[in-house]
Amino acid sequence: MIIYDDEKINKVANWPDKEIYILLDFDRTITDTDSETSWGILSKSNLVPKEYKIAREKLHNYYRPIEQDESLDEKTKNKYMEEWFYKHIDMLIKYKISKDIIDDTCQNLTLMKFRDGMKEFLINMHQRKIPVVIMSAGIGNFIEAFLHNHHCLFDNIYIVSNFLEFKNGVAHGMSDKIIHSLNKSNELLTDEIKKHLKGRDKIILFGDTCADTKMSGPTPREKVLKIGFLADKIEDNIMAYKDVYDVIGLGPTSMDDVAKVVKIVGFKNES
Ligand SMILES: [Mg+2]
Repeated sequence: MIIYDDEKINKVANWPDKEIYILLDFDRTITDTDSETSWGILSKSNLVPKEYKIAREKLHNYYRPIEQDESLDEKTKNKYMEEWFYKHIDMLIKYKISKDIIDDTCQNLTLMKFRDGMKEFLINMHQRKIPVVIMSAGIGNFIEAFLHNHHCLFDNIYIVSNFLEFKNGVAHGMSDKIIHSLNKSNELLTDEIKKHLKGRDKIILFGDTCADTKMSGPTPREKVLKIGFLADKIEDNIMAYKDVYDVIGLGPTSMDDVAKVVKIVGFKNES
C-alpha cells in the first residue's frame, strides 16, 4: 500500500529530466527488504572465521533494534550508530579479513537482491541521463560489485559510501570520511560529483529509514520529493515517517507501485 501527499505529487509531476537527480540509499532501498545487507553479506561467506560471524551477530542483535527505533533522539542514536560502526571495523581488522575474502564475496552476492523494479528503474535513469547518487552507510566495495554483477554500474551512478582499505592484503580500515546511518548529508558529495549535478536543483530521494531523508541536506523542502519504504514495525514508525516523507510504501513495495503514484519515476522518455 502507498500513502502520499497529493499536492506534492502534483507539483513534481512536471519536473523536467534535465533539472533533477536521484538520491538513493542502498540497503533495503535499492535492495529488497529481505535482502542481505552490504554489512551482513560478509558473514555469509564460507571463508570468514566462525568467531567473526558470532561476534558480528551479537553486535547486530544489539544495535539493529536501536537503529530501527524512530522514537530515540538523534544525538543518542548517533552515538550508538557510531559505536556500532567502529566496533564492526575493529572486528574486520581483528579477524584479519583479507582482500581475497572480499573479492570472493563480491563474486557471489546472490543473497542480495534488487527491490522489484529497481534494476529497470536504474536502466531507465541511465537512458534518460539522470544522475543517480547512491549514498550508503554500508560497504561500498559490495555495492559496486553488486551493481557490476547485474550490469548496472552505469556512468551516471555515483557511489558515496565506506570503502574498505587493505594493507598487505588484509583489512586495515575504511576510506577517510565514514558514513554511518545518521550522518548522511549532501555535504558528503565530492566536488567531482557536484560537477555532474550542476544545474540540477530538484531531487527525488528514496530511503528506508527516517535518517535517509537527510541525504538531501539543506535543499529547500519544495525541491525534494522524498519517497520512503517502511516494511517493519509499521505501526510503531508510521507517524515518524509521515513527518519526513512525502510518499510512503508500506510493506512490500515495488518500483512499479511507486511509479503508479509518482509518474516521474516511471518509464517516461524525454528527448
Ligand atoms: Mg537502508
